[in-house]
Amino acid sequence: MFGSHLSIAGSMLTALDEAQRLCFDTVQVFTKNQQQWAAKPLDPAMVSDWNARVATLGWGDRMVSHASYLINLATHQDELWRKSIDLMTDEIERCEALGIRYLVHHPGSFVGHTLDAGLARIAGAYRELFGRTRGYQTVSCLEDTAGGGSTIGGPFEDLARLRSMIIDKTGEPPRIGYCLDSCHMHAFGHDLSTRDTAEKALDHFHATCGIENLRVVHLNDSKGAVGSKLDRHAHIGEGTIGAPDLAASGFAAIVNHPAIVKIPKILETPKEDRADGVRWDIVNRARLVSLQTDADPETMVGEWLATHPASPPAAKTIKSRPSKPSASKPASPVPKQPANSAKSELEAKPPIKPGAKPATKAKAAKPAKRTKPAPARTSTTPARKSSARPSAKAPTNPALKSARSPSQSSSKSVKSSRASGARKIDSSRRPSRRA
Ligand SMILES: [Zn+2]
Ligand SMILES: [Zn+2]
Repeated sequence: MFGSHLSIAGSMLTALDEAQRLCFDTVQVFTKNQQQWAAKPLDPAMVSDWNARVATLGWGDRMVSHASYLINLATHQDELWRKSIDLMTDEIERCEALGIRYLVHHPGSFVGHTLDAGLARIAGAYRELFGRTRGYQTVSCLEDTAGGGSTIGGPFEDLARLRSMIIDKTGEPPRIGYCLDSCHMHAFGHDLSTRDTAEKALDHFHATCGIENLRVVHLNDSKGAVGSKLDRHAHIGEGTIGAPDLAASGFAAIVNHPAIVKIPKILETPKEDRADGVRWDIVNRARLVSLQTDADPETMVGEWLATHPASPPAAKTIKSRPSKPSASKPASPVPKQPANSAKSELEAKPPIKPGAKPATKAKAAKPAKRTKPAPARTSTTPARKSSARPSAKAPTNPALKSARSPSQSSSKSVKSSRASGARKIDSSRRPSRRA
């Protein structure tokens, strides 16, 4: 089940439309402008349109939201902690209203304190969060991180401890799960470049966290090397995980792992066009599907193009980002404005974490934009013909250079305590929701 993080610019409904147009089975969205603390309440008319659409699509059990990067539940600054709890409450309430099952968030950063203290802060925050939202069905998913600086969530052991502590404080194991991001795993040091090492990494995850608690996967290739602690997402097959032989990479292990075939797997790769003008989301999805079916990804891309002649260029979501020199430093205690400031751009690039340095300005995607109905271009895409073997040769769009600062490495390892008692949630139990 594949999806992509898509823009809600204009209306949240556009993300559903776009996901469907791109042939995804699910979607990840922000439910508000993720750069702002304040959010307008959801429009009831939009919510009812949304829920009707979701019911038609049958996506009620699989949609994902990503919480604002402003939130830091691990902080020791009381004011920021309070604001984070309030905003996280809002995030949970929005998901609940929209029938979004999974709310992914980064655990936070314990800057200036210890890992233990940071974990305790998050658990304390959750006591309040779940107290305020009793009976809600949205599942919070703790996302693993590349583990730079004082960012929590690199080692699986830390995630396991955190979930246990939250369960101790709240008594609600079904409401707290995990999200694994392939780029973050690899950058942290879990080598995903081969099927074998990826299977070992998933075994390690299962031994510490319990793979049955894994609710969402983010599928991103990595620009940084294994262990680099660099959180920079690359297109599938274009990074240090998937190139040069995607079929032999850890992506093949992840998308075919029997325990997680049915969970949402979301692309958080840059929303841009490949050099030949094809939307990268189309290509990335085709490459992932090819790992399950052995179909040739470029043939799939050609078929999509033949049936969707007038796709709007992705470039519109990347252009005109005002460059915003920011003073942010890695692991700053105060949440900075994310590097991206244009709303559309921020939508296009979810993977910015607190403390990340400003990305360099992305230029409008240059390559051949398809501005008018394009002729069916089944086999004209420059690229590999040989099947199921996307290589690193596909043209990489240079427009996207999100120079994120290398985060410092830290990686504290802590004894694991396997979170226990988690029950699986019956994924069919969400027929209706409060408005
Ligand atoms: Zn992610
Ligand atoms: Zn990331």
